[in-house]
Amino acid sequence: MTIIYHPQFLNHYQDSYHPESPQRLVAINAKLEEENLLEDVLTPDPASMNDLERVHTKDHIEFIRRVGEGRIDMDTVSHKETFEIALLAAGGAMEAAQKSYLEKKPAMGLLRPPGHHAGPDYAGGFCYFNNLALAAETLLQDVKKVAIVDIDVHHGNGTSDIFCKRSDVLYLSTHQWGIYPGTGPFNYIGEEDGQGFTVNLPFPSRSGDTTYDAAWEEIISPILNQYKPEAMLVSVGGDAHYMDPLASLTWSSLGYVGFADKLIKTARQLCEGRISFYLEGGYHTGALADIIAGIVAKFRNEETPIFFGEIYDLDVLGKETIERVKEIQASYWNL
Ligand SMILES: [Zn+2]
Repeated sequence: MTIIYHPQFLNHYQDSYHPESPQRLVAINAKLEEENLLEDVLTPDPASMNDLERVHTKDHIEFIRRVGEGRIDMDTVSHKETFEIALLAAGGAMEAAQKSYLEKKPAMGLLRPPGHHAGPDYAGGFCYFNNLALAAETLLQDVKKVAIVDIDVHHGNGTSDIFCKRSDVLYLSTHQWGIYPGTGPFNYIGEEDGQGFTVNLPFPSRSGDTTYDAAWEEIISPILNQYKPEAMLVSVGGDAHYMDPLASLTWSSLGYVGFADKLIKTARQLCEGRISFYLEGGYHTGALADIIAGIVAKFRNEETPIFFGEIYDLDVLGKETIERVKEIQASYWNL
């Protein structure tokens, strides 16, 4: 598995005490190093303005370039170096996509700042440019359809807004209902040509391992198999974990790693192993390191020590959500 990383990602700060801190990547790197998993590491070049324009408006790009020191929303701050580092994260996402496409094996973009809350003409939620959307557009220069699976605990409103009217991008999101950004209801299925190509699974608080297992079996796996993407992209947020301080789902580290393993196996069956992962949120550094190192190790058929493996959701607490999604998506997919 190719890892895409740039030391500059550590120089991106929001405020002191902000949960989206460089410590997140420090913890991931430390665990990867400890477990001898830092082998195939690539340093990306920044994205160009032309690249960014595939996803964002000129006005938005110009706004982020010029904002310098300032506040974009309540939780998203810009400093003079933010723009340059965001360009490196965007370039890193493109690199991950290209690597997974050319080498037919998974790639992991350990990127900061994250991207899935950035839409065509807006930033927010710690995001400036939509890294994964840019990666998807890079892939679409070579293939006809891609599938995005977003397992961050927050709905990827930016990614959803960018692709909601298109059928060449399938967007599947699992998230907690009732928290930031407030979007992603189960009955939103995309618009115009994109109807049925947006699948939202908004779980109630406390949902965890058994809910994700059921969602995989009953919705995510069948839809991926029917859509038959030529490449897959995954927004990995570690914030659906039970240790996470910003949300209240209860997914375990083992649950995450097992889910990623199923995604990689599906990519091998459907699209020659062309799958790439993009770091989004995840604010408990120990849990985040567990998850990312676990995924990288799993790909090599190795196991890493897992610190946070308790299972809290034994009763499929998201069952009602899954049933509702099946009903609403029944016109588009055989579920
Ligand atoms: Zn998140």
